[in-house]
Amino acid sequence: MKLAERSGWIAPSATMAMDTAAKEMVRRGIDVISFGVGEPDFDTPENVKQAAVKAIEAGRTKYTPAGGIHELKVAIQQKLARDNGLEYGLDQIVVTVGAKHALYNLAQVLLDPGDEVIVPAPYWVSYVEQVRVTGAVPVVVQTRGENGFRLTAEEFRRAITPRTKALILNSPSNPTGAVYRREHLEALAEVAVEHGIAVISDEIYEPFIYGGAQHVSIASLGPEIKALTLVVNGVSKSHAMTGWRIGFIAGDSRVIKAVTSLQSHSVSNPTSIAQYAAIEALTGPQEPVQRMVAEFARRREYLVQRLRALPGVECDMPEGAFYVFPKISAVFGKSLGGRKVTDSASLCQLLLEEGHVSVVPGSAFGAEGYMRLSYATSMENLEKGMDRIERVWNALA
Ligand SMILES: *Cc1c(COP(=O)(O)O)cnc(C)c1O
Repeated sequence: MKLAERSGWIAPSATMAMDTAAKEMVRRGIDVISFGVGEPDFDTPENVKQAAVKAIEAGRTKYTPAGGIHELKVAIQQKLARDNGLEYGLDQIVVTVGAKHALYNLAQVLLDPGDEVIVPAPYWVSYVEQVRVTGAVPVVVQTRGENGFRLTAEEFRRAITPRTKALILNSPSNPTGAVYRREHLEALAEVAVEHGIAVISDEIYEPFIYGGAQHVSIASLGPEIKALTLVVNGVSKSHAMTGWRIGFIAGDSRVIKAVTSLQSHSVSNPTSIAQYAAIEALTGPQEPVQRMVAEFARRREYLVQRLRALPGVECDMPEGAFYVFPKISAVFGKSLGGRKVTDSASLCQLLLEEGHVSVVPGSAFGAEGYMRLSYATSMENLEKGMDRIERVWNALA
């Protein structure tokens, strides 16, 4: 059977081999501590679960409108006004099967083959693959650690060509935890408006901000940039609802209409029951979110302090999400048991085999010389895992 050409445009995930190796060790009965987790380790709040149970009992188990039920769109509309100072009509909002699906849909309705999309690195892996599958070209721009891994207006400007269609922004960022401040966004918005470039703003980590930083949506900076911005968000990370698959997009009504049509022919609608649960997540008490953020803040401090104690490691205090992204290239060239560390992937392989900890190499996010550790795991695991990393680290020579 001959596969479509575009099936070959998607690269297998660079983290896959590591993940498979870690799972294989667990299967053999070895206790591996994972710093690789990409979702909150908390349970979905009880009130949200109850809303889903109620929806089932009330028979809300049939098809819904393709773009989501009216009550959820209203809840999203209110959330955007309340938290982000953004006013949208209901025709500017669509509910999707998670934020990943929101981003996928946007790539499908916005991009023609040959179009260019600017993706600041380190990036979330799916951005580049979703762009590629449309035949468009991801233009990866390296951001610098000195700038807190934030794309500068100058770097943005330099990457623009006549084919540039969109910029993908992710604040707070996975994998770096970077948070763009208002002034950073204002500078980027000016360039986007000047060139008429769409901004896909992935705000899925919105509530996870620590130490006085604040989340700002680039769309809130004025009517011109708002018209160009597609805000992507959802309840997966904020309300520990990754398995429920509810995300949304807000922006240009023509884009929303195209996404809704695409959905009507692909997924029909996001799961009815999960949509009712999402209404409760967005309109119900937010204490569970605050509790989760407070616990993440505590773990972040601990993890950064432990990493900074390792000789050669440079680790900024990330302002958002639940990841730290230390620079680890100082150990390149060192060895342990005859095995040489040559890059972030070989270091992570060594940490797995010698230390029984799983960490994601920076190369998976387009950033060699770094690694990503998630603190969406218990304090006990963080302590145990860091003890193990420290042991391997000190044995490298
Ligand atoms: C987790 C994640 C998403 C996907 O969220 P879902 O709602 O689970 O699809 C999108 N963007 C980034 C950066 C993420 O880390």
